[in-house]
Amino acid sequence: MKKVVLASNNPGKVREFSALLKEFGIEVLPQSAFGVPEAEETGLTFVENAIIKARNACEHTGLPALADDSGIEVDALNGAPGIYSARYSGPGATDEANNLKLLEALASTPDEERTARYVALIVLMDHAGDPTPIICEGTWEGRILRDEQGEGGFGYDPLFWVPTHNCASAELPPEEKNRISHRGVALRKLIAALRGDATA
Ligand code: IMP
Repeated sequence: MKKVVLASNNPGKVREFSALLKEFGIEVLPQSAFGVPEAEETGLTFVENAIIKARNACEHTGLPALADDSGIEVDALNGAPGIYSARYSGPGATDEANNLKLLEALASTPDEERTARYVALIVLMDHAGDPTPIICEGTWEGRILRDEQGEGGFGYDPLFWVPTHNCASAELPPEEKNRISHRGVALRKLIAALRGDATA
C-alpha cells in the first residue's frame, strides 16, 4: 500500500478518504500520526489553503499528502464567509454563532438575492515541491434560509436551502448529501483523476 498523509486530524475525514482510496492501493494516515503541526492558512482562496496544508504535511513527513478546504460563499456578501466559514463569528466560533451572524448579515436581503454555494477543494500532492498537484473542485448551489431548518449535517446545513430537493441540506439523508454535495463532487473528480492516472 502506498501511504498518503491527510492534512487533517478529523476522524470522519480520515475514514471517508481511507474508504474511497483503498481501491487505488492508497493507505490514508492522519497527520497527527506523524506529529505534523497545523499549517497557518494564510491563503486568500480555498485552493491556496488546501495547497498550503498539503505542502506542510509533505514537508513534515516526506510522504505524499492530501488536503481539503471548504466553505460557503454568499453572493449578497461578496462571497463571504468564504475561506473564513469555520471562523466567521470570530475566535472560538461555533456553528450556532456562525449561523446567527449569517442570518443577521442577510436580515435585509430579499429571498431572490440570498443565493449561495458550498465550495470544496481537494489537493493531492506527491511531494513538497510538486509543481503539478492534482486539484479537484466541487460546488453546490443553494440559497440561505431565514430560519434554521432540519437536524442533520453540520455547519451551515440548517440554513442552506437545496432547490433541487426542496429542503435544507440539514434535512437530507447523509447518503443523499454525500451524493450531491460540493465534497462529493470534488471526491468523485479525485477518483476520476486517479483512475485516469492508473490507465495513462
Ligand atoms: P474546513 O474544515 O476548514 O474546510 O472548514 C469548512 C467550514 O465550512 C466548516 O467549518 C463549515 O462551517 C463550512 N462547511 C463546509 N462544508 C460544509 C457542509 O457540507 N455543511 C455545512 N457547512 C460546511
